[in-house]
Amino acid sequence: MTAYTEDTGVDIDVLVIGAGVVGIYALHRAVRAGFTALTLEAGDGVGGVWYWNRYPAARFDSESYSYGYIHDKQLFDDWKWEEEFATQPEIERYLNHVVDRYALRERIETGQRVVSAVYDEGAQHWVVETEQGRTVTARWVISATGGLSVPHYPELDGIESFVGEAHHTGAWPHEPIDFAGKRVAIIGNGPSGSQLLPAIVDTVERVDLYQRTPTWTTPLNNAPLSDEKRAALSADWERVTHTLSSSPSGFLHPFSGKFSTDHTPEERQAFFETMWQAPGFGKLTMNYFDMTTNREVNLEFCEFIAAKVRSIVTDQATAERLIPTDHLFGAKRPPFVENYYESFNKPSASLISLRETPIVRVDATGIETTAGHQEYDVIVYATGFDFGTGALTRMGVRGTNGLDLSTDWEEGPSDFGGFAAHDLPNFFFPGGPHGAGGGNYPRYSQFQVDWILDTMIYAREHGFATFEPTAEQEQGWMDMIAELAPKSIFSAEHSHYYGANVQGKPRKFLLNPGGRQGLVDILAHMTATADYNGALVAAHELAAQA
Ligand code: NAP
Repeated sequence: MTAYTEDTGVDIDVLVIGAGVVGIYALHRAVRAGFTALTLEAGDGVGGVWYWNRYPAARFDSESYSYGYIHDKQLFDDWKWEEEFATQPEIERYLNHVVDRYALRERIETGQRVVSAVYDEGAQHWVVETEQGRTVTARWVISATGGLSVPHYPELDGIESFVGEAHHTGAWPHEPIDFAGKRVAIIGNGPSGSQLLPAIVDTVERVDLYQRTPTWTTPLNNAPLSDEKRAALSADWERVTHTLSSSPSGFLHPFSGKFSTDHTPEERQAFFETMWQAPGFGKLTMNYFDMTTNREVNLEFCEFIAAKVRSIVTDQATAERLIPTDHLFGAKRPPFVENYYESFNKPSASLISLRETPIVRVDATGIETTAGHQEYDVIVYATGFDFGTGALTRMGVRGTNGLDLSTDWEEGPSDFGGFAAHDLPNFFFPGGPHGAGGGNYPRYSQFQVDWILDTMIYAREHGFATFEPTAEQEQGWMDMIAELAPKSIFSAEHSHYYGANVQGKPRKFLLNPGGRQGLVDILAHMTATADYNGALVAAHELAAQA
C-alpha cells in the first residue's frame, strides 16, 4: 500500500497524540489500515490515566471486561482479568501487553509533550511540536489526549508554601508513598479521594478528608473474576460485544425492566437493597427506568442511601455531613467504593466539612481552616481534572481561518460529534468534549475511533484530501447539545461534566446528551452522500479554493 508520505513529503500519515486507552487503539487501527503512524506521549510510559493515576487502590469502577478492548476476542481470551474491577497495576500491565501484542511500542515516543499543533494550509498538513523539541509533520492528527488528563489543583492561598509531601491523585509519583505513621490530608471526595481513604486509613497516624460537596457514594461490590465467568463471557462473546457496543451506557448490566410505579413502597425498599448490592454503575443502569427522570423516586432512593450511611457511620454528626442535601443520585458522577463510610469509624479518620469550616490557607506545615490549623506530613489533592477541554485548549492547536482552541473555546467547546471541528481539517479528538454520553467511556471512544479510521480509509480510497465538518454540520450538532443538555440529570452547579469543579470555567455541558443513538443518527446523515455532505474535500478542490 502506498503511504501518503510518499506523495506529499510529510513525515507520517497519522500522528496520534497520547498513548492511553484511546490512543493505543487509534494507533493500532491506523497501523492495521496501512497508514504510516506514530504516537507522541507525554508520560514516560503508556497507559494515559492508568499511567498517571497510580495512587493506592486506584481501580476500575466499570467491569474490567467491559472497559478493556473488545475488538479482538483472542485478546480477551488471552488476558485473564483477575477481578471484576481491576486495580491500576493490572490495568497498566494490560495496556502494556496490548502495545506489545500489536507491536506498537516502536511507534510510540514517550516523554514527548505536545505544545503546538498548527495546520499548514498551503501544504495541507499538520506541524506538531513537543516541549522536548521534536517536530513531526502529519497528514492526519488524532488527539487522544483524554478528558481527565489535566489535573485540577484548588485555588488556595499558600499552596506552594507547604514543605511536606504534596501529590495530586492524577499525577501520582512512581515511587510508592510511605503513609505509615503520617499525618495526611486528602482534599476531595470524588471517586479518587474516596478510593484512597480506605486504602490508607489503617496505615496512617491520622487522615483528614476535606469535603466540599457530599457525594452519593455506594459500594463497588467487587469480586474475583472466576474462570467460569470468563468462560461464559468468552462463549457468549458475540452478544457481549454487541451489548457493549449498542447499549446506551456501554455496560452489560441487565435492565430491571421496571418503573418505580410497578412496585409498592415496601417492594421499592427491597429493590433498593438489591441496587445497593449491585456492581458499580449497576446502581444507575439496573435501577428503575424512571430513576433519572422522576424526582420523587430518586429522592426515595437518596433517603435509602442516607439511611445506610446513618447505619454504617457510628458518629451521627459525621454521618449527616456525609449525606448530600443539594443534588439527586446521579446528578454528580457518583463514586463506587468499598469501605468508604466504614473508614470514618476508624480512630485515625476525620471528616472536615468545607461548607462549615472553609480552608483559609495552606502554609508550610499544614492547612488552616476557619476552625483552626492542622499539621500534616502529606497533602493529597484529589481535586479532579479540567474535564473535557483541559488538554485540547493547552496544546497550542491552531487550524484554519484563525481558529485557536486556547481562545476560541474559552466560552466552551464547539465541535462536531465530540471528535472533530470546523476549521480543524484532518484533526480528530476522540474521547474529547461531547464525546461520551456518560457511562463506560471506552465504548464511546472505540466507536469514534472506528468511525474516524473508516473515514480516513474511505478518503484514501476515494481521493479525498481532507475531512472537516462544515459550519452547518457543527452547528447542527451543537444545537442538539443545547436542546438536550437541560434534560440530562447532571447538575450544572455541581458536576464536572459542566466544568463546575474548576473556578472560572464556563458552565457548559461537556457530554453528549443525545447518547450513542444521537451520534449514530448525525453521522448517518453526514455519510449519506459520497463527500459526506461537503465534509470531505478532494485535493484538486482544495487547490481551486486556494
Ligand atoms: P472529581 O470527581 O472531580 O472530584 C474532585 C473532588 O475535589 C470533589 O470532591 C471536589 O469538590 C473537590 N474539590 C475540587 N476543587 C476543590 C477546592 N477548590 N476545594 C475543595 N475541594 C475541591 O475528581 P476525581 O475524584 O479525581 O474523579 C474524576 C473522574 O475521574 C471521575 O468522574 C471518574 O470519571 C474518573 N475516576 C474514575 C475512577 C474509577 O473508579 N474508575 C477513579 C477515580 C476517578 P466538589 O464536588 O465540591 O467540586
